[in-house]
Amino acid sequence: KNFKELGIGADFVKGLAELNIIEPSEIQKKAIPLLMSGATDLVARAQTGTGKTAAYGLPLLAQINPKRNAVQGLILCPTRELAKQVAKQLFKFTKYTDKIFAEAVYGGEHIDRQISALQRPTHILVATPGRLIDLVKKKAVNLSEVKTVVLDEADEMLSMGFKAELDEILSFLPAAKNKWLFSATLPQGIQEIISKHLSEDAARLK
Ligand code: AMP
Repeated sequence: KNFKELGIGADFVKGLAELNIIEPSEIQKKAIPLLMSGATDLVARAQTGTGKTAAYGLPLLAQINPKRNAVQGLILCPTRELAKQVAKQLFKFTKYTDKIFAEAVYGGEHIDRQISALQRPTHILVATPGRLIDLVKKKAVNLSEVKTVVLDEADEMLSMGFKAELDEILSFLPAAKNKWLFSATLPQGIQEIISKHLSEDAARLK
């Protein structure tokens, strides 16, 4: 199946083709139709380099109402590098679509710069957990309209000591109906997050 047959709109398909993303990868073939079909939680085993960013990014972009100026999607990442890379990929996917704005925020950079960046319209926030909590405490970001939260490289976030932060964030999102967890491995700490925060009938891939 190609991206169109998986349910991806023509404007996105055109943007993907320009990035030489023509044939969906395995994880994309499985995850995209599932995530496009509506509210569901997902646990997916996925290594880096498998195309996982597009596997969750395209269904997430399809959910965004670009006319509504509110953060509607949240992607949690372990590192600054990954956060920046994910935001950049999402931006590239939207070259031929309505403008959807993704902003990356992460530790190790002055928070004031990120606070002013967040004054601009932001539909998708890509964040490391510690910095996100700091921004919420400073009331620099409103997460009340986040419908979907993605945990990218969830096992790495645990290894970096973000378990308490993940718990806090996941407990706090009032409108998050969809929780999509991507992880290379599923150790005990991840199982705890799954049983505490994801639906019992979450879909599972691999
Ligand atoms: P990721 O695993 O999401 O970090 O993606 C790794 C790289 O593969 C990125 O540079 C993507 O642009 C690229 N990519 C993602 N999906 C595909 C695909 N279906 N075909 C070719 N390249 C892809």
